[in-house]
Amino acid sequence: MTDSTGVPIPTHAPMTQFPIRDNCLMVAGHPLTEIAQRVGSTPFYAYDSTVINARVAALRHALPNNFHLHYAVKANPMPAVVEHLAAMTDGLDVASAGELRLALATGTPAANISFAGPGKSNEDLALAVESGVIINIESATELERVATLARSSDKRPPVAIRVNPDFELKSAGMKMGSGPKPFGVDAEKVPALLQRLRELPVEFVGLHIFSGSQNLNAAAVAEAQSRTLDLAIALAAEAPGPIRWLNIGGGLGVPYFPGEQPIDLGVIGSALTKLGKKAEQHLPGTEIVLELGRYLTAEAGIYVCEVIDRKESRGEIFLVTNGGLHHHLAASGNFGQVIRKNYPLAVGNRMHDDTLEAVNVVGPLCTPLDILGSRVLLPQAGPGDLIVVFQSGAYGYSASPRDFLGHPPPGEILL
Ligand SMILES: *Cc1c(COP(=O)(O)O)cnc(C)c1O
Repeated sequence: MTDSTGVPIPTHAPMTQFPIRDNCLMVAGHPLTEIAQRVGSTPFYAYDSTVINARVAALRHALPNNFHLHYAVKANPMPAVVEHLAAMTDGLDVASAGELRLALATGTPAANISFAGPGKSNEDLALAVESGVIINIESATELERVATLARSSDKRPPVAIRVNPDFELKSAGMKMGSGPKPFGVDAEKVPALLQRLRELPVEFVGLHIFSGSQNLNAAAVAEAQSRTLDLAIALAAEAPGPIRWLNIGGGLGVPYFPGEQPIDLGVIGSALTKLGKKAEQHLPGTEIVLELGRYLTAEAGIYVCEVIDRKESRGEIFLVTNGGLHHHLAASGNFGQVIRKNYPLAVGNRMHDDTLEAVNVVGPLCTPLDILGSRVLLPQAGPGDLIVVFQSGAYGYSASPRDFLGHPPPGEILL
């Protein structure tokens, strides 16, 4: 589409991961209308395991085979999803005692679980030490607290230093490294911490360097990964032992908004192949881990709500639904967006209807922030129709204020 001056209007990337049959969106081979009946009520989240499987297969194909693929549980902690991904990946990354219990319940060996997060509580650290997972150390004080727990429990917990890098990840949607940050230990302070570590009853396993999230620019991700390896090589010279484990983070994004394109996995794959060769030379025997959250689950998930009312107000149409920001904060634009943009939407039971109209899709909450779609072109819809929000398999259910206004929580189903 172009505007009146011929300039292309940005559109959403096509959501081809879900086929359409008889005018209805299909999830894992089931029509959406049937899934809605099976769940029993709307709204709900549905996750398609076949889409997750395809994503993991594409990654395995693109990555050099000496790289390990971890799932960052934070993206989607639904137990069935965590179990599904635990069986397909090489390990899990967690960020709380709650997530750690979820990860341990899948039977994943402790050596393949790592625990990051600033402000780990005593309960968090005690469970981490007790279970023997790799603790990503976020500060000098945290290292001392782990050592104290180790002394009193007669364990020698495996630790990695989480490094706040001295370079920036360009184009990242959410920067988590470089400059002043609450995450990790500034790269320049790491040598002193590695010295201190020699005196403590902990087992040094390596480094964790995560510079940012939601990046669609493959060249920028590849550059950050290469600088991450260089930093690890430099820090290795100061380490009490070999770097056995190097977690280079993730950061691969998915297209949410008009004009965004999927990241080029081929570029990442060939850059990582080069990186793997360099690592073999300078850090022989190091296990390199890529930890991905949203890239594994976001595109496999949809959020589905039902139109309750259709009304007109001063020339605009409003589809009022039973779902909104209390279930899906990110789609409402209130989870890290500066300027609100629409997630890709559809009317799941009218996929081929071609009488399009511009509508506002809103939720039931008494706040003007409760918007799922602002002036989107959708097939004509009314009460009973199913509104689908795509790209909802990560940072959806668990990242939303479900108690706000006291509506029922959404269902969740893995198909
Ligand atoms: C959040 C987080 C991830 C996952 O990020 P995604 O953008 O979902 O891939 C990975 N590692 C750490 C340390 C995180 O905090």
